[in-house]
Amino acid sequence: MSTEVQPDPSIIGNIAKPPFVRLPDPARLFADRAARFRALATGHQLESSLKFLAGVSQVQSDIQSGLPDVTIPTSDTLQRAKEHKMPPLDRSAFNPDPAFDQAFEWLLSAVEPLAMPTEAGAALARVKSIERRARDMMVHNVLADAIPVEELAEHIFVAAALQVHYARVAVKLNPESLVEIGHGVCPTCGGAPASTMIVGWTGADGTRFCSCATCGTLWNYIRVQCTLCGSNKKMHYQEVEGSEGMIKAEICEDCRGYVKMMYQQKNRDIEPIADDVASLGLDLLVQELGFRRGGVNPFLIGY
Ligand SMILES: [Zn+2]
Ligand SMILES: [Zn+2]
Repeated sequence: MSTEVQPDPSIIGNIAKPPFVRLPDPARLFADRAARFRALATGHQLESSLKFLAGVSQVQSDIQSGLPDVTIPTSDTLQRAKEHKMPPLDRSAFNPDPAFDQAFEWLLSAVEPLAMPTEAGAALARVKSIERRARDMMVHNVLADAIPVEELAEHIFVAAALQVHYARVAVKLNPESLVEIGHGVCPTCGGAPASTMIVGWTGADGTRFCSCATCGTLWNYIRVQCTLCGSNKKMHYQEVEGSEGMIKAEICEDCRGYVKMMYQQKNRDIEPIADDVASLGLDLLVQELGFRRGGVNPFLIGY
């Protein structure tokens, strides 16, 4: 599989040469996300939820100092993963270690004072009292994208702890060791993208990146191609009125799925997780047309 970017008619004349991946910077990732959630919350229909998620993101940022060091895959594992085109962080083999346990525990304590929807408060109390085995089952559910609908709120806290943990591991990897794996698969952890972004980065302006909902890795992807099935034949785009081209759903008639595309050139502050939640109206519109959401975002599970 080639990692080269195909020519995109919309950037002819541009010499954009995007990197294949941009690994997350956990020190910035969650703080930036918190700021974006806060900015989006004001006057939004989902104001209280967005403010709560701003609080959760801020906690994800704050708890990092003092956490035990994360364990990174051995060079053998990295080499094998590369040879077999597998993500080096194997989600199915994840074993909670002291770094994750501590992140999870600190996160639960730190979110407690946040103003949150009643349902989330009740879910937090339940998560705090569960036994380890039940917690590990929830960890498994999040990593397998198999969250039971009746426990969505509980799993938000588990997913938030996993995001911190995976971003802390991902940042330690060498981008050179990562290879393209498949459509809609994070080359770092095998996760699905929450959304995709047309970036405004110097040297990569106008190219597209998928954003992993778990580890925060951004990876380059062809611009007009379904991230779910790889088809590029029957694509069309939909946006809500007033979005002014900032966020569109890329809809694929072949697999009947859609993933959002966010245009950083239209707004430098766009954040792939926060803006995904705040643009729920677009999901509702496109689902009404009969298409299924392909993006995976633990803060938007159930849609
Ligand atoms: Zn990932
Ligand atoms: Zn498709």
